[in-house]
Amino acid sequence: MTAHGTHVRVADIAKHYEGTEGPIRALEDVSFGVSEGEFVCLVGPSGCGKTTLFRIIAGLESATAGDVFLNDERVDSPTPDMGVVFQEYHLFPWRTVRGNVAFGLEKSDVAGEKRGERVDRLIELVGLEGFGDSYPKELSGGMKQRVAIARALAVDPDLLLMDEPFGAVDAQTREMLQTELLDIWRETKKTVLFVTHDVEEAVKLADRIVVMAKEPGRVREVVDVDMSRPRVRSDAEFGRYYERVLGLIRGERAV
Ligand code: ADP
Ligand code: MG
Repeated sequence: MTAHGTHVRVADIAKHYEGTEGPIRALEDVSFGVSEGEFVCLVGPSGCGKTTLFRIIAGLESATAGDVFLNDERVDSPTPDMGVVFQEYHLFPWRTVRGNVAFGLEKSDVAGEKRGERVDRLIELVGLEGFGDSYPKELSGGMKQRVAIARALAVDPDLLLMDEPFGAVDAQTREMLQTELLDIWRETKKTVLFVTHDVEEAVKLADRIVVMAKEPGRVREVVDVDMSRPRVRSDAEFGRYYERVLGLIRGERAV
């Protein structure tokens, strides 16, 4: 818990790159907060700076201006307080599922015998029981991303930070993973910051949606999604949120 109740704070972030035709303003004046236990989606068109922002929040890249705080501490390098899941699987091909999930624990102070138990529990949590000894090449895309989620959760991070984690799997698998992620969120009570360009995905998952616009990359509006779960695409209320967020992305006035 923090004094302000804001778990993650993105404060006046700017990021400029040198382009051949002058500076690229990938991010300009980006500010928002995420409360403890909240599920926030960051949504916006391709090129609006989502991955850039994700990398800055993760401490993988520095900002041109502004700060990111986790529990009121400034983030300036990768920290085990964040579990990070990338769009591409980023698994170690030479390690088994168990070995991949255990990776994060190897530098931690979790004792040896406790580690095995914890790894097995995480593998069960993401629905991969029976696959602990398999290698990544033996798994489907969806299964690989489950391993990446289990690995990110291994060190019990304060924040689960994900960049289009289901972008590379087929539609049916994606829906299954979305439902499973919501179950995991409910069970672990983690704070989640989830990047996607998919409006439907954002409306299905988020408590709040930070809608971004591009050129320069910026926050257009933050939308509270006040709808019970599970959420069904065919519900009228779902449709209203969907149209509203899509309209914001297209640059229409708020409806
Ligand atoms: P998104 O993830 O929303 O698609 P990105 O964060 O990948 O957007 O990119 C935002 C903008 O910044 C784009 O115009 C992209 O070309 C530019 N950009 C991203 N990374 C670099 C880089 N390393 N060098 C120069 N320009 C970059
Ligand atoms: Mg991206």
